[in-house]
Amino acid sequence: MLLDGLTAVVTGAASRRGIGRATARMMAQHGARVALLDLDAGQAQAAARDLTDRGLGDGHIGLACDVTDRDACRQAAARVIESFGKVDVLAANAGISQPIRLMEITPEDWDPILDVNLRGVLYSCQAFIPHFRERKAGSIICMSSVSAQRGGGIFGGPHYSAAKAGVLGLAKAMARELGPDGIRVNCITPGLIQTDITGDLLTDEMRVEIRKGIPLDRLGEADDVAGAYVFLASPLSAYITGAVIDVNGGMLIHG
Ligand code: NAD
Repeated sequence: MLLDGLTAVVTGAASRRGIGRATARMMAQHGARVALLDLDAGQAQAAARDLTDRGLGDGHIGLACDVTDRDACRQAAARVIESFGKVDVLAANAGISQPIRLMEITPEDWDPILDVNLRGVLYSCQAFIPHFRERKAGSIICMSSVSAQRGGGIFGGPHYSAAKAGVLGLAKAMARELGPDGIRVNCITPGLIQTDITGDLLTDEMRVEIRKGIPLDRLGEADDVAGAYVFLASPLSAYITGAVIDVNGGMLIHG
């Protein structure tokens, strides 16, 4: 199994149809012990229990952690490290979206979108980096979006594009700074993946329209993205850092 003996942390891992939850599941299928972090402790714990109920190993844990809260990230990291003894992989996955246009963005819209999607990546990484540095090892995988690369236009607004573009810059800078410590940092840029992040705002007509621009002729599934997370978590990607892996069915093909 690809992740045998490894331990992984996934933020934003509780939502039932979400990418984080699918990633935790696929990581467990590949032999990892996983800590699932999300806003609500009960839901995070239930998601962790679900892995064991599916026969995907014991010892997974679910914890409350709001990634916009630096202290909460530090406390969660301390608890995971204490519980697992060590952490090998961090998937900084938590995110929120909002489909509004440029001139509609108010400070009340801007702040949470930037806070969860960008500040949250910084805080969750900062919480685990001292541990990774101590061990001279670690794989950090940051969640960006095709929205950062093509300037939105699918679901999230310009503030979401800005936050996700910020993640690309932050991750590349982290890759540069942390490489000498044996820590890899990479990004994933999914296209439109069928999860609940769009709420009920994504209509069937919008789906049909979006599909027309996808060479693989389908929208993405959470497992499509989970596969990229597992690859970047695994030793198969040992010489890959500072990379951006597109998971978009060809929606954006660029040089
Ligand atoms: P989702 O809504 O199913 O999952 C997001 C999870 O993040 C939820 O469990 C939510 O509770 C959690 N979360 C929200 N705010 C949080 C906070 N402050 N602290 C901790 N957890 C928090 O959405 P998803 O589609 O699975 O999205 C996962 C990631 O993938 C996000 O970063 C999203 O921006 C990104 N993404 C999604 C798509 C897509 O089309 N679904 C495309 C590109 C990128």
